[in-house]
Parts: sequence; structure tokens; C-alpha cells
Amino acid sequence: MTQAITVLGATGSIGKSTLDVISRHPDLYRIFALTANTQVNLMAELCLKHQPQYAVMADDGSAQALKKALQSHNIQTQVLSGVDSLCEVSSHNDVDQVMAAIVGAAGLLPTLAAAKSGKRVLLANKEALVMSGEIFMQTIADNGAELLPIDSEHNAIFQSLPAGFDQNQGLKNQIRKILLTASGGPFRGWSKQQLEVVTPAQAVKHPNWSMGQKISVDSASLMNKGLELIEACWLFDVQPEQIEVVVHPESVIHSMVQYVDGSVISQMGNPDMRTPIAYGMAWPERIDSGVSSLDFFDIAQLNFEAPDRQVFPALDLCSQAFKVGGTAPAILNAANEIAVEGFLREQISFLSISSLIDDALNHCEISSANSLEAILEADNAARRFVQERIKA
Ligand code: NAD
Ligand code: MG
Repeated sequence: MTQAITVLGATGSIGKSTLDVISRHPDLYRIFALTANTQVNLMAELCLKHQPQYAVMADDGSAQALKKALQSHNIQTQVLSGVDSLCEVSSHNDVDQVMAAIVGAAGLLPTLAAAKSGKRVLLANKEALVMSGEIFMQTIADNGAELLPIDSEHNAIFQSLPAGFDQNQGLKNQIRKILLTASGGPFRGWSKQQLEVVTPAQAVKHPNWSMGQKISVDSASLMNKGLELIEACWLFDVQPEQIEVVVHPESVIHSMVQYVDGSVISQMGNPDMRTPIAYGMAWPERIDSGVSSLDFFDIAQLNFEAPDRQVFPALDLCSQAFKVGGTAPAILNAANEIAVEGFLREQISFLSISSLIDDALNHCEISSANSLEAILEADNAARRFVQERIKA
């Protein structure tokens, strides 16, 4: 039997890589549903190529346009719209795996729906976990879902842990540290002064990875690494002090685990998201991902340095927000999403992104994150707060 997969965010960078891996293994996987925000033309192409049972667009207008685009073709794909439909195709009985690759908080509800219905959740959408950490992990555990990290670093850590690693089994006294690697982004080594005038075009130009706009800006500000630090705390049940961020500009080592006996185990590979995607889909087995093998003679050198926490304050803002707990990480994430949008629209400077996040954490009310309502409310309040600041 083939495994049925729903791809949330099919038109994005992770979505496309996922479809590429699935296409290589028609004997193992089939597509159940594809979803997208508003990219009607691209979605129409994907529907014609992959013939999913369902295609879900974020809004009704886009869904109508997609229906029209598919009308003259003889395909059975049903077109739906809205968050409820996203949740339906994530929790449908016929689905085995859900690739959570919507960007930002918009992915939270459908990803949680997949967890609630006991699916294998392939988690690229780190923002969902950052916002709702405790509820998210509890939902996975309560419903017998499988959580496979797709973020390359977390996938590497997962691969570097002993087989059968279970957070609850107290392996923690065997692990000294998790070494979370970072490329350093396009502004590695730059001064605050230089960063004052950088443009969106410069910020989205990542040296090693080709990714969506939002995560590219996050990589440039090191916010991405901060979000990943929080992600790792939840996924591997560790505290920020047990994670060391190591800047490694070549992006060949994707992260490491340091054990008490002095051993360090790492996962390496070319920087191509199809490797962690294929690993998550096939785990505990391995399948061809289309990614070529490393050529060590070609690489010749690997470099490492400490991150510059003064120039890139986002990293420390993230560990602080995690330590404060409650809705602080949801506030941090929402503030960042709005600030990044503002930067991409050239309404604010690059450096304002982290100062707006800092402001939001200082001014928005932080409460306990024991319900989804509390988390969504904090998310909303932080969005409004930063929008007001940008307007002013
Ligand atoms: P992207 O911008 O390329 O794609 C985002 C996808 O989400 C698109 O399909 C878009 O249509 C959909 N989407 C956006 N807003 C939506 C909304 N409101 N409702 C429904 N759908 C919506 O982003 P990406 O680079 O593919 O990243 C996706 C997620 O994966 C992010 O959370 C990112 O942090 C994470 N991630 C990406 C990479 C990478 O290499 N691109 C690596 C690690 C983690
Ligand atoms: Mg990553």
C-alpha cells in the first residue's frame, strides 16, 4: 500500500521539494491533498501534474479562480477553501502523512489538526511549534502521532541521537550539548552600521539555501536560529543552556550532538531540503532523495565561529522568550512576522525588526499558554501592536 500525503504549502520552497521527493517514489507515496495561499496558476499546474483528491486555497476567491482554471481539464480534484478545509485535509481518515510547510502562524491550526488525528507530522513549519510548544507536544503524545523534524538542523539532531531515542527515557544524562549549526546568513561578519542600510533584496539572498522570503529574512537576522533554538528545546526536551549555536558558513554539517564520553555525532550533506524531507517520509528507512553525495575533496575545509550576539540580538530575544514561557514565544513570533512583512515592504529598516520584537515582548501582556485561545489572542495582540508601531 502506498502512503497518502497531504502537502500543506505545496507551492512554497519546501512544498516543491516535497513534491519532487514524492514523484521519485510512486510505489511508496501518493498525494492526497495540496494546499496553497493564493498562487492560483502554480496550484493549477500542480493539480494537473499530481491529480490530488483535494486542492485547498486560503480564500474563496482563489478557490473559485482555481476551479475555473481546472474546468476545461478532465481531472477529479475537488477545490476547497479556508482554514476548516485545511484542517479537514490534514486530519482525513485516508491520510497517513502531513507535510506541514505553510509559513508562519497560518500553519498552526492545520498542523495541530494532523497531530490530533494521529498522523505522521513532517514539521517544517517551526513557527507553529514555537507558538504553542507545550500544547503541540502534548497533542502529539496524546494522539499517538509521529513528529518528524524537517528543519535541516533538527532533522540532523534527530539523526544524531541514538536509534529509538525517546525524550521520556532519560537519555539526557548521556548528552552534554546539542550543537545547533547556523550558516550566519548573508550578513555574517557585518557591523551594526553596515546593517542599518541593507535592503530586502540583500537580506533574502542566502549564501547556501534557496528558501521562501520570510525564512530568508529570518536567516539574515538570526531570528531563524533563535526560532530553531526554541524548536529544539521542545523537540528534544532540553533547555537553551544545553544548546550551543555554532556558526558554520559552509552548511555541510547540519547540526551535532555532543555526548558525555566526548563523542560528537553529526549529520552532513549537501544543503538541499530533499534530504531531511525524504528522511522524514521514509523513517526509519531511507530512500533516494535526488540529492547528490558530498565531495569532501571539493569542500576541503569546514569553518566554525561563535555568533555575534550584539549585532544579531534576535538570538538572545528567542532564548529569553522561551525562558519566560507562557505566551512570550507566540508574541515574539507574531511580532517578527509583522516586522519582517514591514521590512519586505520597505516600511522599516532591517535593524528595526529585532527592536520591534523586543518592544512587543516588553509591552504585550504575557499570560499562561494553557489554551489555544490564549495563544491565538497573544498572537493577535502582538500583531496589532507591531502594526501600530510601524504606522507610527
Ligand atoms: P514559502 O514562502 O516558499 O512557502 C509558503 C507556503 O505556505 C506557500 O505554499 C504558501 O502558499 C503557503 N501559505 C502562505 N501563507 C498562507 C496562509 N495564510 N494560508 C495558507 N497557506 C499559506 O516558505 P518555505 O520556505 O517553503 O517555508 C515553509 C515553512 O518551512 C516555514 O515555516 C519555514 O520556516 C520552514 N522551513 C523552510 C525551509 C526552506 O528551506 N525553505 C527550511 C526549514 C524550515
Ligand atoms: Mg533550519
